[in-house]
Order: sequence, then C-alpha cells, then structure tokens
Amino acid sequence: LSERLGGVFERLTRQGALSEADVETALREVRVALLEADVSLPVARDFVKAVKQKAMGQAVTKSVTPGQQVVKIVHDELVRVLAGEGPADALKIDNPPATVLMVGLQGSGKTTTTAKLAKRLKEKNGKKVLLASLDTQRPAAMEQLAILGTQIGVDSLPIVKGESAVQIAKRAKQQAAFGGYDVLFLDTAGRLHIDEVLMDEVQAVRDIAEPRETLLVVDGLTGQDAVNVATEFNAKVGISGVVLTRMDGDGRGGAALSMRAVTGKPIRFVGLGEKMDAIDAFEPERVAGRILGMGDIVALVEKARETFEAEQAERMAKRFAKGLFNMNDLKSQLDQMLKMGGMQGVMGMLPGMGKMARAAEEAGFDDRMLRRQIALINSMTKKERANPDLLQASRKKRIAAGAGLEVSELNRLLKQHKQMADMMKKMGKGGMMKQVAKAMM
Ligand code: GDP
Ligand code: MG
Repeated sequence: LSERLGGVFERLTRQGALSEADVETALREVRVALLEADVSLPVARDFVKAVKQKAMGQAVTKSVTPGQQVVKIVHDELVRVLAGEGPADALKIDNPPATVLMVGLQGSGKTTTTAKLAKRLKEKNGKKVLLASLDTQRPAAMEQLAILGTQIGVDSLPIVKGESAVQIAKRAKQQAAFGGYDVLFLDTAGRLHIDEVLMDEVQAVRDIAEPRETLLVVDGLTGQDAVNVATEFNAKVGISGVVLTRMDGDGRGGAALSMRAVTGKPIRFVGLGEKMDAIDAFEPERVAGRILGMGDIVALVEKARETFEAEQAERMAKRFAKGLFNMNDLKSQLDQMLKMGGMQGVMGMLPGMGKMARAAEEAGFDDRMLRRQIALINSMTKKERANPDLLQASRKKRIAAGAGLEVSELNRLLKQHKQMADMMKKMGKGGMMKQVAKAMM
C-alpha cells in the first residue's frame, strides 16, 4: 500500500504546493489504502470526502510541505473519527453489582477478553469480580472460563449442567448481588455466523441481565465482515462499545474505522495476544497510524529530506571545501529549515527527535529565532553577506536597527556563523546538513 501512497506524497513534496488535482490524486490513493486496510467501501468513501473538504480549505495557504500537510490532514481525520468521547477504558461499573455483557461471534475472543478485563478491573481498580459463562453450546466453554478465572484469581459462577443461558444469567445476577461483587461478566455463546437463534438468545439474556455495558468482541483480522457483525449486534442487542482482538497480528485494523463509523459506538479495548495481560485501552493514534501505514510515510518524508540534503550538501560542499561559508549560505540554510516547517517540523518528522526539538525550543531556538536571524541577514548589504569580517560597530548598529533588533542578537548570529564556518573548513564532503543542524543547536 504505502509504497504507492508514498510515491504520491513524494511527488507532492517535490512540487511544493497542493493543487486540487494533487489532493484528488493523493486521496484516491488514500482510499485504496483504506480499502486495503479492510475499511468498508462506503465508510472509505465518506472518509475521503471529509478529508478532501478539509484539505482543499488549507491547500495552498500553508508553507509546510504539501506531502506533510496531506499526511497530517488524513491522519488527524482518522484519529477524530476513531476517537470516542472520554477515555476508552472507562467502563460504567458504578452501582454494584454492574453487569458487563460480552457478545460476538464464536472464536472472536470473548472468553479470553472477559478474563483479561476481569483481571484488569481487579488489579487496576480493585474491583471484586464474578465471571459467568453462558456458553451452553460448546462442550468445554464453561470450564474454559472457570480455568481462566482460577488462573487470574477471580471467582466464577459454579457450573450447573443443563441450565439455559437465561437461567444461568439469573443465577449469576443473584450470586453477584448476594456475594457483594462489584462487577459481573456474562460471557455469552457465539455462532460462526449471525443467525436468529443466536440473536434471540442474546436478547433474552440482555433483558434478564440489564447490562451496564454490552461489549461486542470482534476479531481485528475479520476485515469487511466486521461491519455487518457490528451493525447486526448493535441493531438487535444494542452495544455500548467494541473490543478489537488479535491486534497483535498483522491486520491493519480498518475494521475499527468501519465499525466506529457505522455504529457510532466507540472502540474500547484492543486485544494484543493470548496472555491475560495482553489488552490495552484503545488508542486512536496507534490504530490510525496502522490503518494509514504512517510509519512508512514518515520514513518517506525522511527520505525526501535526505535527497534534498544530498543535493544541497553537494552544492555547498564545493564551496565549503574552499573554506567558503558566508551569510548567504547561512541564510539559505535558515530558509530551508523554515520551509520544512521550522525546527519543530524538521525534528517532529524524525522518530525520537521530539525531545530534542523541545530542548532546542527551551534554549530559545525556535521559528521566531529563525525569522529574526533571517531578518538580520536580509538587513546586510551584499558585500557584508559575502564577507562578514567587514562588520564593525557602526555597520552592526545599522544592520540591527534595520532588522528592528538588538546588536547583541546580531553578535550571537555572527558567533554562530563563525563556529559553523570553522567547522565547515574542517569537514570534508557529506553529512553536511546534519552537521550544520547539530552546530546550530
Ligand atoms: P470466543 O469463542 O469468542 O470465546 O473466543 P476465545 O476467547 O475462546 O478465543 C479464541 C482463540 O483466540 C483463543 O485461542 C484465544 O487465545 C485467542 N485470542 C483471543 N484474543 C486474542 C488476541 O488478542 N490475540 C491473539 N493472538 N489471540 C487471541
Ligand atoms: Mg467463549
């Protein structure tokens, strides 16, 4: 996916401005990316439409690279759509005993997720939890939950053979109330496909159980079918949220976007493995990045930057090799940094650089400083730029006044330039920009 997507962004990056045609092209690819991530067609279509409106409004106005801009718009919109209101993992479990009903197809991970959530509530929230399996379909299903309960140190309802799901639910409610439990999990049976019998049973259980939360458990690798599952369960049973399992696999998680868009219900948790600790609160950023293949794009933006650096470096290296590094050279570097979105933009693009960007900012090295320095250089004559050694007191005063700044600021710039010029002389070819960037910090 992202190679193609990346190609488009790379092209956009080179052009320097977003035209309507560019946005169209990019978004066509975004749509393909979404479909490849198993987002359903109507959802992908709507999503792209929303993004286009946003992108068009901003298109030519901003000075950051167009590719970055499109990535950001697409990513932000994904996060916006995916995010629920409030923290994803805040289950409504006040007024004990609160019942949590777990529904979904067979094999989606209901039983495993039930135990994972029980463990989490016990350990994180200090809740007293009771587990009950209503799975009268599969032979060893009830034992499976009881075993997991023992493993995590959580009580489960004693198994009585021959009861119906509704009967078990009733008994579980009583037990939860009498036993002073905070939370009761009802783990229901699933079918391989949605059918009347399954839905009727779940409805009957729901009416008895009066759950505070009804969580639909969906296999994150399910793909397009997830929409139908979510739509059906939401219409027939009414769900309060979704748990996406098997997100440790290489599914792209597009089901999350589809289900969120179609049901309007938030994704609450993601399952990340078979172990009892392998569950996390749903994070829209993480899944958005995954759906979009953001990592690849970030890498491509880096690559584009490196290409630019290489060209720039080669041209400048010739000058530097001769010991030439004047104010014009410095200015073109500062201009480039601004164009790339300033310090924050340049560093924000690189993984692990956020901290450095912040440190640079604290040291007073921000975009405003870049602009002030550029203003100072602009205020110099051609001669002065080519030969900074000319700058004595009176010229300095004139230049600083011209830029509306203090002489001390000009002195700082000159000192910085001197350091850089010295370093340039020492350096041979290659890695030029990186060294420059480092020197500036
Ligand atoms: P149920 O039929 O819906 O109750 O599904 P189960 O809870 O019995 O899970 C079916 C299988 O999927 C089991 O082997 C689980 O260990 C596995 N499973 C559940 N959740 C996850 C997950 O998040 N990641 C992985 N890799 N496996 C999972
Ligand atoms: Mg089960």
